[in-house]
Amino acid sequence: MQQFSIAIHGGAGTILKVDMTPALEAAYLQGLQDALDAGYAVLEQEGSAVNAVKAATVILEDNILFNAGRGSVFTKKGVQEMDAAIMDGSDLSAGAVAGVRNVRNPIELAMEVMHNSNHVFLCGKGANDFAIKQGIKLEPEEYFYSQFRYDQWKAVRDSDGYSLDHTNHQIEELMKDKKFGTVGAVACDSKGNIAAATSTGGMTNKKYGRVGDSPIIGSGTYANNHTCAISCTGHGELFIRSVAAYDVSCLMEYKGMSLQEAMDEVVNKKLMLIGGEGGMIGIDAHGNYALVFNSAGMYRAARKSDGTHEVSIYK
Ligand code: ASP
Repeated sequence: MQQFSIAIHGGAGTILKVDMTPALEAAYLQGLQDALDAGYAVLEQEGSAVNAVKAATVILEDNILFNAGRGSVFTKKGVQEMDAAIMDGSDLSAGAVAGVRNVRNPIELAMEVMHNSNHVFLCGKGANDFAIKQGIKLEPEEYFYSQFRYDQWKAVRDSDGYSLDHTNHQIEELMKDKKFGTVGAVACDSKGNIAAATSTGGMTNKKYGRVGDSPIIGSGTYANNHTCAISCTGHGELFIRSVAAYDVSCLMEYKGMSLQEAMDEVVNKKLMLIGGEGGMIGIDAHGNYALVFNSAGMYRAARKSDGTHEVSIYK
């Protein structure tokens, strides 16, 4: 019988147990479980992988603890600019948005681009205008505000800390302080179709107009029934330069690697060589999944129709 399965993440980085209170840890685990349940419910009702990843991502976007939708990080200008992408591995259709503001669920806007525009990728004002035209739900600025992200931003906003130069000390400090996060989901449905979704507020104090890997098809998000569906999280610039998600697909297609082998190669070898901290979740059309990261932790969860179920944070 065809297995169905789903895996989700809520970002990777320097996530350490010592920094966590029991209450906060419980809230993160519950947030992951809620999103996993929403996506799994779609699959259980014989829904499509693409609807499952969207459902799970919406729940994570609505949860203020995660850096996507509500609770997104602050840019250098003190606002939220969000990126998202979704891809359907059954026909390689995809939709993405970058630098959108006030959109409650950027993943829904990405899906709208996929289904109801002739394009794959809309950015900035054009993406926002499209959201209004399509009746996508908007929220006022206050909706996205979280004290935690504001405090993170306040600590670095007077630095010029976000030109991504590796020799720049500020970057190291930002990374150490785990000021990144993203959410994503991958799923394999009962027909053996796979899909991926990723949504993010990006990186704290990012420059106006900066776009990360998340909405870039092949870098932060990719899905192809013949290989894998991947959603990444981590230092976006390095994932873009590595074309990380598509590289996993290529290693499977051209080198015959398994999903786990290909993800290990990209995350623990290739990305590590250039200092690309982060991780990714992946799934194949048999319902196998893998959760791989080279950072101290990654908020993650997965469930399969054979009864496998995990929710975890640290290494
Ligand atoms: N990859 C995201 C970005 O660079 C951030 C993250 O995953 O934490 O925008």
